[in-house]
Amino acid sequence: MNKSWTDIASLVEGYKTGKLSPTTVVEYYLERIHKLNPELNAYLTVTEDLAKQQAKELEKKLAEIDSFPLFGVPVAFKDLYQTQGIKTTAGSKVLENYIGQYNATAVQRYIDAGAIVLGKLNCDAWAHGSSGENSDFGPTKNPWNTQYVPGGSSSGSAAAVAADLCLVAAGTDTGGSIRCPASFCSVVGLKPTYGRVSRYGIIAMASSLDSIGHITGSVADSARVLAVTAGVDPKDATTSTQPVPDYPASLATSLKGVRIGIPKEYLRLGSTMTEGMDKEVEQLTDAAIDQLQKLGAIVSQVSLPHTPQSLACYYIIQPAEVSSNLARYDGIRYGHDRSAFGPEAKRRIMLGTYTLSAGYYDAYYKTAQKVRTLVVEDFDKAFERVDLIVAPVMPHLPFKIGEKVADPMSLYLEDILTVPVNLAGLPAISLPCGFSQTKLPVGFQLIGPKFSEQKLFAAAQAYELATPFHEQHPSL
Ligand code: GLN
Repeated sequence: MNKSWTDIASLVEGYKTGKLSPTTVVEYYLERIHKLNPELNAYLTVTEDLAKQQAKELEKKLAEIDSFPLFGVPVAFKDLYQTQGIKTTAGSKVLENYIGQYNATAVQRYIDAGAIVLGKLNCDAWAHGSSGENSDFGPTKNPWNTQYVPGGSSSGSAAAVAADLCLVAAGTDTGGSIRCPASFCSVVGLKPTYGRVSRYGIIAMASSLDSIGHITGSVADSARVLAVTAGVDPKDATTSTQPVPDYPASLATSLKGVRIGIPKEYLRLGSTMTEGMDKEVEQLTDAAIDQLQKLGAIVSQVSLPHTPQSLACYYIIQPAEVSSNLARYDGIRYGHDRSAFGPEAKRRIMLGTYTLSAGYYDAYYKTAQKVRTLVVEDFDKAFERVDLIVAPVMPHLPFKIGEKVADPMSLYLEDILTVPVNLAGLPAISLPCGFSQTKLPVGFQLIGPKFSEQKLFAAAQAYELATPFHEQHPSL
């Protein structure tokens, strides 16, 4: 089949004009999954029958297409999303046979909006990781070069969108798990404001940091999806009652007058970090900043002085919450017993239990919470002067599968540019900004104040329209 759509808008247009039908589109994706997934390992479960059945039902509703914002859009979910009647493993052997008992709120919203479910996507077990290699079901491979990691923990989500095994992939971002794989696979990754999208029914990693977002091939698609998933949910008390704006309407072509800050700790002159940063990542981020300036942005330097402390802060708060959330997997009601946890989950359970225990709580957990407030204040101060902040996503290029597995600390250090955003609960979007000499993708991120997703989409789309990277696809 010759593919006539590149995004949600052109897909829906194809349905409207009768050029496409949900069934033929489902067949297209299933064929690609069958062909490419054995090598890429992006999907853990393919819901072939369900997808075909949903497609058939949608065909009867073609007359009402405009009342379904994601009519016939093929989506797949990170295997952390609970899906009724469908295996939900969290990438862990502990839940290898667990069948979801209900749909997460986000899953239900996708389905109610007309999306077609293609399956469940591989991820680092319990979302612990930055490479996808911590999955108990084998690593996902990077579609741009299958010897390399696709990034994590939403490894399958980014690989599936990059390899065109679905149009939209749902993910989660606790410390970078959407932005990291999006940048390693040259696709668009949105981490919404904490509380913008319901966490209900999504297997918890670290509840004060978990953010529910998605990976798409374009900024416009990202805005369309958030318009569906965002909003208050009585089943998640941390969701915000702020009205959901018309995100697709906030797209823009110019950045005239938008003030963008470069944290001096991250990049360019005087940076304390660039010595550890890959030169090509630095150069490509610089080029992206130049492009933003060309589009009318006013670029200046800002300071986030607690950047060096934020990684330590994250690696105390996050394992503490992980150890608490994973306590429920006792193997009594469902799943295997605790001996089935892999080494990374065990490491985090031990670390978290230690920092929460009597005598150590004040020294570690409480101190980390105070540092977290300082990180929040850093961003608040910066946003008094600028509208958005620009930064690289990952300090290094995608690495070879196996290269860092023996050294968990070196992997933790890769999160330095993503975790501050989660500590502060801010929204951020990761965008493709080019390729290394070795043809590996690089992404950069735009970060905004809480609930500034509209501004992020506007700036991101202006950048996307002016650059060619989102139009390049891996040859598979
Ligand atoms: N890489 C980070 C970690 O391992 C982030 C994980 C995530 O966002 N789920 O903790």
